[in-house]
Amino acid sequence: MYLIKNAKVYAPEDLGDMDVLTGGGQILKMGKDLPAETAYGVEVIDGTGKVLMPGLIDAHVHILGGGGEGGARTRTPELALSDVVSGGVTTVVGCLGTDGCTRTMENLLAKAKGLEEEGITTYVYTGSYQVPARTLTGSIMDDIILLEKVVGTGEIAISDHRSSQPKKKEFARIVADTRVGGILSGKAGLVNIHMGDGENRLKFLRYVVKKTEIPPSNMLPTHINRSRELMEDGIDYAKSLGGYIDLTTSSDPDHLDPDEVKASRGLKMALEAGVSSDHVTFSSDGQGSLPVFDAQGQFAGLGVGKVCSLYREMRDSVLTEGICLTHALKAVTQNPAALLKLPRKGRILEGADADLVLADAGTLVIDTVLAKGKVMVRHGQVLVKGTFES
Ligand code: ZN
Repeated sequence: MYLIKNAKVYAPEDLGDMDVLTGGGQILKMGKDLPAETAYGVEVIDGTGKVLMPGLIDAHVHILGGGGEGGARTRTPELALSDVVSGGVTTVVGCLGTDGCTRTMENLLAKAKGLEEEGITTYVYTGSYQVPARTLTGSIMDDIILLEKVVGTGEIAISDHRSSQPKKKEFARIVADTRVGGILSGKAGLVNIHMGDGENRLKFLRYVVKKTEIPPSNMLPTHINRSRELMEDGIDYAKSLGGYIDLTTSSDPDHLDPDEVKASRGLKMALEAGVSSDHVTFSSDGQGSLPVFDAQGQFAGLGVGKVCSLYREMRDSVLTEGICLTHALKAVTQNPAALLKLPRKGRILEGADADLVLADAGTLVIDTVLAKGKVMVRHGQVLVKGTFES
């Protein structure tokens, strides 16, 4: 049990200075001046001068590794626990990408289970870029209903040269099956959609919203910030049809493609254009392959996208773009929790899971991270590492 004393709590709404008591993996009690009763093994964590935030949710991570687009040696490695918790992330949704052949659903589920055993919360999407989706049981709906960790489908690729070039009705069918699978299992039934550079942009999503009865909350298109055109189309989709948009954080901020929009900048653009702060999310695309550049800006090989970029962009939203902490946090906590239908995640409230991040109030540098009530990071040092991390 931990009693976090006197931190400024962002739930993500600003609740002011408060004490938060955790036990049994949950937030048990919140209030002013809670008694520091250490007789029951309660350990006090001083939150003075710090902000307390919900643990981050990363709804798009290649936990098994991804890439492979430059041949087999460019397949990226699996996710390590310390890369997750050091960036304040306590919940991840794993997915397959371009490669749905050598990366399998069986393997994805095993990796998700392993990360859960190591201390964080994990879910997965069924499928990969491919259409028809490569599932475990042979059906999207069956995967969602029968497999506990499967909360949706993804990342289904559209408007991309690497996609299966699905027709819009095929795409609508995937969203429909995912939605019904979600309804029948009490889960989100969310389709995570990989957006490429193609000029159709969000056309298929507009088709689903306009021509079917399916609400936009069953679809989350990602990589919306990959180009200025797609960012503008995403803003229009969110404003005119109530759509949700996801911005990718793992690009190297010092070597962005000239047309690419930094995620924190994209959030600012969306909010300034009048998009609701409930309709924008960030995800890292962690463990995907990324080009690396040398000091002269020349291509120097491939690197791996980092989950900790999620926190960096949340922080840059506040410190560089001047967005209030509540709005920046919503993109990585409350909003993904709502779309993924995870009522115990993404908020600081009594009864929620004790997934918490304590950071310096000025610099937002992470001090302490709790995942399901267990201290994973303390004084900036990772205490709990993955099974094979030294
Ligand atoms: Zn993608």
